[in-house]
Amino acid sequence: MLYKRSSALFKNAENVIPGGVNSPVRAFKAVGGTPIFAKFAKGAYVYDEDDNRYIDYINSWGPMLLGHAFEPVVNAVIEKAKKGTSFGMPTEIETKIAELAVSMVPNVDKIRFVNSGTEACMSAVRLARGYTGKEKIVKFAGCYHGHSDAFLIQAGSGAVTFGSPNSPGVTKGTAQDTLLAIYNDIDNVKALIEANTNEIACIIIEPVAGNMGCIPPKDDFLQKLRTLCDEHRILLIFDEVMTGFRLAKGGAQELYGVDADIMCFGKVIGGGLPVGAFAARNEIMNHLAPLGSVYQAGTLSGNPLAMAAGMAMLTAIENDKDLFKRLADKTEYLHKGCAAALNKYNVTHTINRRGSMISIHFSEEEVVDFESAAKGNNETFKTFFHGMLNEGIYIAPSAFETWFITDALSYDDLDETIRAVEKVAQTL
Ligand code: PMP
Repeated sequence: MLYKRSSALFKNAENVIPGGVNSPVRAFKAVGGTPIFAKFAKGAYVYDEDDNRYIDYINSWGPMLLGHAFEPVVNAVIEKAKKGTSFGMPTEIETKIAELAVSMVPNVDKIRFVNSGTEACMSAVRLARGYTGKEKIVKFAGCYHGHSDAFLIQAGSGAVTFGSPNSPGVTKGTAQDTLLAIYNDIDNVKALIEANTNEIACIIIEPVAGNMGCIPPKDDFLQKLRTLCDEHRILLIFDEVMTGFRLAKGGAQELYGVDADIMCFGKVIGGGLPVGAFAARNEIMNHLAPLGSVYQAGTLSGNPLAMAAGMAMLTAIENDKDLFKRLADKTEYLHKGCAAALNKYNVTHTINRRGSMISIHFSEEEVVDFESAAKGNNETFKTFFHGMLNEGIYIAPSAFETWFITDALSYDDLDETIRAVEKVAQTL
């Protein structure tokens, strides 16, 4: 493939944007080479500025559950834009999407819209602290909850890809309030709680982790967290920014049958526009300003274009009874095909999958937490990534990311992907 125009555009970008990108994971720093610049996308495919076509497994890092340029979303945004792009006043569509979201997600009465997953998680933690009157939080190594200070402690995704899971600029005081636990290790969480009696406001978790590759929770890990939280008056926050409206209509809560206290959303809920949200029962949500004293705000929160996109997206999901089964079936098909292709050429690997999230770790160990995820062979990943790109398959340029399966993928696309894996496997 030729990347002539992308390379030129990247050079220009580097002059005026740090690293040439507005979010670090977009750079190819971990895998080498030049990021490809997107020109347009439709359905399962993204086209770059050199007119190469790729089958897309990044999908804007999750939002495009139903494929790129999904017509109901595009049309809703166009129609809304004609009537004004922002008012800073309440609009009816905010209530409509709130009603729909609340009806889809278990265990919530109210939802507040923000502009990103980061804001959703940051606000959820403030609310948990305000509600419980306690200050410490527990997060899991390798989980990513956005780039607000409290979460940049052993964070996953781009933070670990670029070797700064603990970012400079986060004060010692903030870092001290974030306790670090091991994913899938309930005894570790218990020990942390016992060592910090009556000090922990909340435990925040990706109920299926997607920021250290895909790592599902073991057996009844989430249920045990729920029990521990109940015993110690700790709020359980599910960061469903990736999993919400993706793994099931009601996200991981529905899939695993576990109730969290606060849920954070992003990605799918905005249909590709900048949207985040957090939701809980009245008892908790009524502590939020202007009803209560926990402050949280946003000039563009509930923006009409963003709400129109989200509404079209959630409506499509709500009305499609087979969607989650189709997505899981496609993901299983891809899993089996990739595993067979890699096994054929004796490539050491582990594939993790849940619903429409899947990732290949180049490690023979079971991948259950950050430590085991980090044991994957990064050199093999780099070769794999560039090999796949050259075959027209676009996966995230880091081993610490999940692949996102969309409904727009056909079985022909999946077969093309599996053939590419087989070809690239011979070079690993
Ligand atoms: N939580 C999770 C689980 C995420 O995956 C992400 C983003 N990848 C975020 C929070 C932050 O969302 P945003 O990038 O929209 O701020």
